[in-house]
Amino acid sequence: MEIGRWRKVIFVLAAFAAAACASSGVNKGDFNLVSYQEEWQLGAQLEQDIARQMPLVRDATLVNYVSRVGQRIVNQTELAQAPWEFHVVSDNQVNAFNIPGGHVYVNTGLICANDNVAELAGVMAHEISHGVSRHATEQLSKAYGANILVGLALGGNPPIYQQLLAQIIAGGTFAKFSRDAENEADRLGVLYMYGAGYDPHGMVTMFQELISRRESRPGSVENFFSSHPLTEDRIEGVRAQIQQLPPKPTPGNRNDEPMRRSEPTACRTRSTSAPNKSQTLAISFMNEIFVAR
Ligand code: ZN
Repeated sequence: MEIGRWRKVIFVLAAFAAAACASSGVNKGDFNLVSYQEEWQLGAQLEQDIARQMPLVRDATLVNYVSRVGQRIVNQTELAQAPWEFHVVSDNQVNAFNIPGGHVYVNTGLICANDNVAELAGVMAHEISHGVSRHATEQLSKAYGANILVGLALGGNPPIYQQLLAQIIAGGTFAKFSRDAENEADRLGVLYMYGAGYDPHGMVTMFQELISRRESRPGSVENFFSSHPLTEDRIEGVRAQIQQLPPKPTPGNRNDEPMRRSEPTACRTRSTSAPNKSQTLAISFMNEIFVAR
């Protein structure tokens, strides 16, 4: 194990000691046989295998942009001290997913589908909330019981681990969550967005966009819907929750951030020599960010 990884493990242990003290009670009473430390180790191993098998965007500008949005949201959670990581997958499908251990993956297709940064923040807040609520490891605990830790044994090649990895690579999803889990991720996501200064209506409009795409281009949102059952009444629930929140003063509203509907300019391939969608995206984002500053 290299030094960097040891430092990370120590950091994680300290972060969770702090989180346990400042717990908001998000996971109180939930059944989970996987410790935070085991969950973060699992995430680290999955991250490495995913990086080898999924087409990740390496361009720092785009990844940093997405990470900045994610980190602002994470800062509102009880796991703010933990080392979260945000990844961009070069994939036209409108999708995002969370895996255990503070990793959130966002497809370029999702970024291109956003009208504004609040919509991107809406989907990311939902995924981060699955992570904070530990829905993935709770589900594994229910499914596999006491065998779960053997099944996830790190450094080996256990079938459960391989099955999870294959599912992520093939479907862009860690698990299909229950209706209750989806509602909890929505509810927390709205609170985290609000705390971070993003307009939570972004979650509503992005969900509406996803539902409308399911009608017009079902293939483009297939993976998202297979892992996140999304219905009109969920949107209504989010809307009702937002109505209960006091309005925020304008300076905290981050809807004016440099992100606009990216199609077709940001999402079309500009490079003539080697068409690379992720590079094109990155260039567009960089321009927008610089213009806005
Ligand atoms: Zn979900």
